[in-house]
Amino acid sequence: MAKTKQISEVIQNDQPHWVGDGFRVYSLFSMQEFGRKLSPFLLFDYAAPTTYTPTDKPRGVDSHPHKGFETVTIVYQGGLEHRDSTGSSGTIGPGDVQWMTAGSGILHEEKHERQWSKKGGVMQMAQLWVNLPAENKSSPPGYQTILKDQIPTVTLADGGGTVRIIAGEYEGTKGPAKTFTPVNVYDMRLKAGHSTTLKLPEGYNTAMTVLDGAVKINGDTLVPSVAVAILDPAGEEVQIEATDRDAMLLILNGRPIDEPIAAYGPFVMNTTDEIKEAIEDFRAGKMGRLD
Ligand code: MN
Repeated sequence: MAKTKQISEVIQNDQPHWVGDGFRVYSLFSMQEFGRKLSPFLLFDYAAPTTYTPTDKPRGVDSHPHKGFETVTIVYQGGLEHRDSTGSSGTIGPGDVQWMTAGSGILHEEKHERQWSKKGGVMQMAQLWVNLPAENKSSPPGYQTILKDQIPTVTLADGGGTVRIIAGEYEGTKGPAKTFTPVNVYDMRLKAGHSTTLKLPEGYNTAMTVLDGAVKINGDTLVPSVAVAILDPAGEEVQIEATDRDAMLLILNGRPIDEPIAAYGPFVMNTTDEIKEAIEDFRAGKMGRLD
């Protein structure tokens, strides 16, 4: 029998904060505290459903830099518009994902989609940061737009729910995201009263974020929303049961990058010297322009 991945910690956050004027987010983890324990994952922010009034001036975050890692933006409700210093721009809507490689350095802005903003409505999204190994930190910046239709959905047994495979592999079905190190990212919906057993690789770190509903893990630990259960790398199985309500989870699982983490704001490098260099490069305009 496969060994169970035990829970090492459950973190709940009921104190949202604003990122720019467009994202009211619950931070579930960040590298300052969990960098080693959750490597290659660095940060996870969840913007629970929030209603915005109509406006001609899209809300969001103005131009800012990133370097040394990847940002993964997942839209559940609403629409987002992105522009960056490579000259690229694009929009993503419900079910879509933007997987951006900051690599050697990029400036971008993240806004509510213009047409959506004019009507207003409910925005619900999440952003994950995934680290890059030292050898890939200077990769050319860019992004993958992953539309809803490109993301395969596997139906769980007995109508128990669905798993959308954004990255990696689930029971033989592969997700579309191209990643630098092995990661599995699953958008899981589990119906109330149903349970499933996930097989996850031995030695990989796992964060099970519960965004809505509540789940019981391994038959004993209740994890409410908005919360994350961190699992031990040892073991290969985890059992998840949705209790009284339908549950929505984003499951993050990846092979740890065994390197030091030096993080400062939007830069994640291996040493403080590299951070200083990143700040200087940004100030000197070496990460490009965004007009
Ligand atoms: Mn950003």
